[in-house]
Amino acid sequence: MSEIYRVDPVTRLPYGVSRHFAALADTEDPFRDPIAAQYIPTPGEQTVLSYEDPDPIGDGQYTVVPRLVHHYYDRALLLVNDRCATYCRYCFRRHFTGHGAGHVTSAELETICTYLSAHTEIQEVLLSGGDPLMLADTEFFGIIDRLRVVRDLIVRVCTRMPVVLPNRISDSFARMLGERRPACMVVHVNHPRELTPQFRAGVDRLLAHGITTASQTVLLQGVNNDADVLEQLFRGLHRMSVRPYYLFQGDLASGTSHFRVDLGRGLEIMRILRSRLSGLALPTYAVDLPGGGGKVPVEASLVRTTETDYILRDGAGKEWTYPREPDRTGSPDSPRTPEDPKDDSSQDFPSKFS
Ligand code: SF4
Repeated sequence: MSEIYRVDPVTRLPYGVSRHFAALADTEDPFRDPIAAQYIPTPGEQTVLSYEDPDPIGDGQYTVVPRLVHHYYDRALLLVNDRCATYCRYCFRRHFTGHGAGHVTSAELETICTYLSAHTEIQEVLLSGGDPLMLADTEFFGIIDRLRVVRDLIVRVCTRMPVVLPNRISDSFARMLGERRPACMVVHVNHPRELTPQFRAGVDRLLAHGITTASQTVLLQGVNNDADVLEQLFRGLHRMSVRPYYLFQGDLASGTSHFRVDLGRGLEIMRILRSRLSGLALPTYAVDLPGGGGKVPVEASLVRTTETDYILRDGAGKEWTYPREPDRTGSPDSPRTPEDPKDDSSQDFPSKFS
């Protein structure tokens, strides 16, 4: 118990879960359940590795005005709110999430709009956080309407709400978002059990109002590090007309090593998925290069593997490293194991890439 009080104040993450998401968990076996694993804190969070960082993808160095991250040429990320309906224990933005910043203020929004006005190369604004849909409709659409005064920006809503609080995607919300196209929604979804009838109903409402809907998934130890599980997830999304967009390698966020899957294992899972799924159902396996190198597709960017690292090349030709990590299945920090580890080729991976 005493260890709990030694949580690093920079990397700490609040505990919170929606009733809907908690009801999806197997309470008979919460520590081996892929849903419960995502929201129940474990001692593993207090293990911080030397190469981990509370801001692993370098938001800080690309923050141009408070809450606005301009990393990619034609897109900017707006952190509208720091709260979530369920706090994911692997959250990569834990330097911001749940730290009390609250929602974007009118003054902050004006500063952001001044920056956007001056940077005409920005065509798309990603609304994220925290979860932007924690805001009431009036405030949420007020932000979009203010952004649209700058120019006809594409709005991308990055959210976990259709999974953790699907009723948030009401018909009136979907209609109001549809009235503000071009707009799209990217839903954070990790496991086929998250594809509930309520999730589908929320997606159907978005689609009925012309909202392009895609998904992003984080590759997570004990949750979905299994080709069968991911096949089921991506096939299910494809059936619901949600385009599987990204499968993300875990970022090197402080206190999340127990969730990370070795990048080589991720490549092996992708190889299996590629043999089973059509291109429309297959997401891009991507990694955000540690230290602000940006997002790159792993399969196309991996240059070589050393004894300790993977070497990846960004779009400008610069080489970056991402560490090789042990297979943590069954380690003391991770009581979670795949539900049915049918494919166990991780054991012989290193020799293939060395
Ligand atoms: S919903 Fe997103 S921001 Fe919120 S805890 Fe999960 S990963 Fe972090």
